[in-house]
Amino acid sequence: RFITFEGIDGSGKSTQIKRLAEHLAGRGYDVVVTREPGGSPGAEEIRALVLQGDPDRWSAETEILLFTAARRDHLERTILPALAAGKIVLCDRFADSTRMYQGLSRGNLRALVDQLHDLMIGHEPDLTVLIDMDPALGLTRALSRRTADERFEAFGEDLQTAMRQGFLDLAEEFADRFRVIDGGRDMDAVAADIATLVDGALA
Ligand code: C5P
Repeated sequence: RFITFEGIDGSGKSTQIKRLAEHLAGRGYDVVVTREPGGSPGAEEIRALVLQGDPDRWSAETEILLFTAARRDHLERTILPALAAGKIVLCDRFADSTRMYQGLSRGNLRALVDQLHDLMIGHEPDLTVLIDMDPALGLTRALSRRTADERFEAFGEDLQTAMRQGFLDLAEEFADRFRVIDGGRDMDAVAADIATLVDGALA
């Protein structure tokens, strides 16, 4: 099974993925944890190209191509082999993040994102967990652990608010695979909800 996690910056995805991976491993599942952009050696190199340095180095269109190229490599080298081996793949962000960030943050490029997705990716997750979070809280959390290579976290609260709504809209658009979790509660409560949700999906 292919399970992705989405949400605005600071929504707690990586913490929750770690918790879920431990929970599933405890139940005897073979779990692979991965992330985007990145998740394979080539895609991690592309991650450095897009996340480091001058934010205006790439046009919005070129950036979509780079994210799509990274995803293609990640899919070929990491995700599809793991799924073929019967493993559960937990991925921190996937195509939905590109629909949001590259598709909405620099004008409306969603159609281009979708075309490239159809052409070069063509896979959707079996389940997408959207960790929904108040943007102000997310921003506080994200800024407190910001690292130098994360230029995207300079995104302000307005954009975070737009992204939150965008993710909720996406959850309706792909209602069959999206589940929304309230991430504004304590970590243990969120982890318990996600474990119950995924246990149900795997049963
Ligand atoms: O998920 P994580 O917080 O590690 O992502 C790093 C940064 O890259 C985030 O600030 C996120 O907004 C940005 N990003 C993006 N487009 C993507 C994936 C991530 O702008 N498709």
